[in-house]
Amino acid sequence: MAAAELPGWTHVYSGKVRDLYEPESGGEQVLVVASDRISAYDHVISTPIPDKGAVLTALSLWWFETLDVTHHVISTEVPAAVAGRAMICRRLDMYPIECVARGYLTGSGLVEYNENGAVCGVPLPEGLVDGSKLPRPIFTPARKADLGEHDENVTFEKAAADVGEDTATRLRDLTLELYTRAAEIASERGVILADTKFEFGRVPGTDEIVLGDEVLTPDSSRYWPAESWEPGHAQPSFDKQYVRDWLTSPASGWDRSSDTPPPPLPEDVVERTRARYVEAYERITGRRFG
Ligand code: ATP
Ligand code: MG
Repeated sequence: MAAAELPGWTHVYSGKVRDLYEPESGGEQVLVVASDRISAYDHVISTPIPDKGAVLTALSLWWFETLDVTHHVISTEVPAAVAGRAMICRRLDMYPIECVARGYLTGSGLVEYNENGAVCGVPLPEGLVDGSKLPRPIFTPARKADLGEHDENVTFEKAAADVGEDTATRLRDLTLELYTRAAEIASERGVILADTKFEFGRVPGTDEIVLGDEVLTPDSSRYWPAESWEPGHAQPSFDKQYVRDWLTSPASGWDRSSDTPPPPLPEDVVERTRARYVEAYERITGRRFG
């Protein structure tokens, strides 16, 4: 699924899931297009998940509105080929740190905690396990890595050295405030927002901080069904569990520790995964998809 050719726009960048364009005529906008690509275990899978880009875009737009925050979206009137899965945004100077908030311990946070009892320099109580709720949400910034590399968790002090103490403080406060609000809303809908990543930018030439990128999608966040939350082991992922389970089962014939790319997904895994993305959207927003 290569990035589409879009009239009036020049393709400038593709991440694992999204494609970025700039206006052919120049100007202070970017077009952010969410594809149907899905990644698992740091690989992009060759089989797309139908409607995934549209579901994630709709969810992101819903959160931008619901959070009542200064954000980058200008319009969703986009070229027909990407309708429903693209947003025209203000072009920002993105800060080079990913602003992660965690309310629960898992993933890279758990790895760090097991090594030294802290995450990104934030000390945590003893005895926490995979999936434990933290006493309060914590800010755990990460330095953006190049494509294919893992982002690097850093302390607040290191983030402050990159963007300045004052900006780092504002980013931290905003991140924790937005996470707390979003987690509350999700919990009313029976969904745990375990952690999430925001990316902020600056309006060029000013020091106005604007929320950019995608927000609170299953690709940028860990959502867990509240009814099955049970600390002590990895929680099932709302969206990617079928993909992960199949890839690590004998049926896929794939060796995760090898360098070979994962095989294409069977139809039933695709269909069930699509249904999970739609369910996440419908559960959180209370709206029907499509
Ligand atoms: P990964 O595949 O690991 O997510 P990535 O973050 O480089 O890699 P995407 O998330 O697909 O790839 O790409 C989106 C890119 O667009 C990011 O680099 C993000 O910082 C940038 N971006 C998001 N919003 C804006 C904006 N308003 N102005 C400029 N750049 C933006
Ligand atoms: Mg990204």
